[in-house]
Amino acid sequence: MSELKTVVCPYCGFGCRLLVDPRTMRVKPYKGEPNRGKLCPKGLHATEFVLSGDRLKRPLRREGVRIRPISWGQAIDEIANRLLEIRELYGPDAVAFIASSKVSNEENYLLQKIARLFGTNNIDNCARLCHEASVHALKMVVGAGTQTNPYEDLERFGVILIWGYNPAETHPVVMDYISRAKKNGAKIIVVDVRETTSMAFADYGLVIKPGTDIALANAMMHVIIREELYDDEFIRTRTTGFSEIRMAVRKYTPEYAEKVTGIPGETIRKVAREFALAGSGAIMWGMGLTQHVSGVENVLAVIDLALLLGYIGERGGLYPMRGQNNVQGAAYMGALSEFLPGYVPLTDERFRKRVAKIWGVEDLPTERGLYLTELWEAIENGDVRALYIVGENPAVSEANFARVREALRKLDLLVVQDIFMTRTARYAHYILPASAFCEKDGSYMNSERRIQWSHKVCEPLGDSKPDWEILTMLGRALGLPGFDYASLEEITAEYFRLFPELEDRSVEELKTGEGIFLPRKRLHTWEFSTPDGKARLIAVERISPWEKPDSEYPFILTTVRLISHYNTGEMTLRSPSLVRFMGEPKVFMNTMDARKLGIDDGDWVEIETRRGRVRMRVKLGKVPPGVVAVPFHFKANRLTSEALNKAGTPEFKFSACRVRKLGNN
Ligand code: SF4
Repeated sequence: MSELKTVVCPYCGFGCRLLVDPRTMRVKPYKGEPNRGKLCPKGLHATEFVLSGDRLKRPLRREGVRIRPISWGQAIDEIANRLLEIRELYGPDAVAFIASSKVSNEENYLLQKIARLFGTNNIDNCARLCHEASVHALKMVVGAGTQTNPYEDLERFGVILIWGYNPAETHPVVMDYISRAKKNGAKIIVVDVRETTSMAFADYGLVIKPGTDIALANAMMHVIIREELYDDEFIRTRTTGFSEIRMAVRKYTPEYAEKVTGIPGETIRKVAREFALAGSGAIMWGMGLTQHVSGVENVLAVIDLALLLGYIGERGGLYPMRGQNNVQGAAYMGALSEFLPGYVPLTDERFRKRVAKIWGVEDLPTERGLYLTELWEAIENGDVRALYIVGENPAVSEANFARVREALRKLDLLVVQDIFMTRTARYAHYILPASAFCEKDGSYMNSERRIQWSHKVCEPLGDSKPDWEILTMLGRALGLPGFDYASLEEITAEYFRLFPELEDRSVEELKTGEGIFLPRKRLHTWEFSTPDGKARLIAVERISPWEKPDSEYPFILTTVRLISHYNTGEMTLRSPSLVRFMGEPKVFMNTMDARKLGIDDGDWVEIETRRGRVRMRVKLGKVPPGVVAVPFHFKANRLTSEALNKAGTPEFKFSACRVRKLGNN
């Protein structure tokens, strides 16, 4: 048997490591942290899509309706010249870059470096679509926008509150930690808008009406304050804003919240007491909280709830569970339009100039760039003329994708760098073939902020190249300073220089050890990352969804994830083992609602919103009356609303829709 290579799983943000046999490409679970010998089906079959016959193997250029192969040299020169021409004509902000949550830290670091040296902060990644609301809320309250504790801490807390998040299907291996916590005596509380698979495992499963999370969190705080269950000393010594919270939650009695959320008042009381009296606890959340127009406020409410009890540091943790395998790394490396690496604001002159100096220039642009979700309007208006996309598929992943597809058609230049001819790549002027995850080295950061090295297993397919090599060529062709890297490790060492916590760490250590936590394993143990070291409790009120059901569109449409599918399906649909395992995506409907419309289990229906319609079979049950839950993958974004919250995330979780029976077949 050849030597097994340790590789980071290319799917979810939990960050399992895989052991891959270079000869057979078979996968075994890594025994160490964080997955401890476990993998879900996606991880076990993670190398299958790499061998797909659909892989892009040569650079391609659009010539009218045809797409023809060209050489790497020609492709990079032509792209660089077009970008420089567009900058000359319209300024640097006429160009935008989309980074990837699936490529390495080094590659995201390079793309944001290109964007900023080119003169624009128009650099963003799909963190905008998922947890950017968590980043904004966490920065406001505790001063750092990330998960606070490692997964291992989950096992020793007295209670785990899982809110708008279905770990059993989105991060299956974290369920192992949650099970151990339960065996150790922890109570598990799950809040969701439907009966999820994770709820089956909970001590309390609360099915809440969509868009009413703030009412529930405020009512729980109401009980905790009224019954004096909060941690008085922690609040006095480590927080500000308690009196505002006390005032704000006064009217959120459990009886009031019952009317809003649908959860009986007595259950709210019981759960609030259980949560408060556990003595230590974690709150884990997902896109059920963030993908609302109230996304930032929803997250603020659950952070307040944890902090009232001092559930932070040694006694608790905040776990915004990240979706894609390197979404945390992409954001940390600065592939965000409002932050430099390390989530440092663009206005922090000292840090900005330090980064500029390392990059060999005097200063960097200071104006916030466009959010990924603001790009489409900017393209429609002619403000953005060129778009360079690495490993993202906005023609499927963005809300109201029909509008996005129209915008992509309008661009003077669209470059897509990917491993497959995605739906987005079909609109591109240039398509650059990238190597897959196991054909290159690189570092990745998982949801708990652990940087892990992923080792190269096999050679790149055809004429494809690792993204970092392509971006290095582009940086040089654009005439930017600091792109004369002799190896990938030089890029790793360069990003290490930006973080004081990594100054004494080596790339070698990263390659051989159990990973490095950035900035450290556990945050806020003694003080918060705010200017005065205290957390700011911020009271929030309910915010209505942007689009409400009415007589024309009477149902609430929400989106959900399924275990065997992943995002836009480009990888999972090319994995034969997963395709065998996955069922047909179905829309979940309440049985009583369906009966009224004469719909039976398995019938074909048409779901329609003000933006479009899709056809699917129905699966009855698991959702409350008035709610229709569509799997997020593939077609759902023909329907979803692009109303944005304060962090620029669309309201994927709430639209008004109607359902029409199409009949059996
Ligand atoms: Fe990969 Fe996530 Fe499954 Fe682990 S839980 S194997 S990281 S998809």
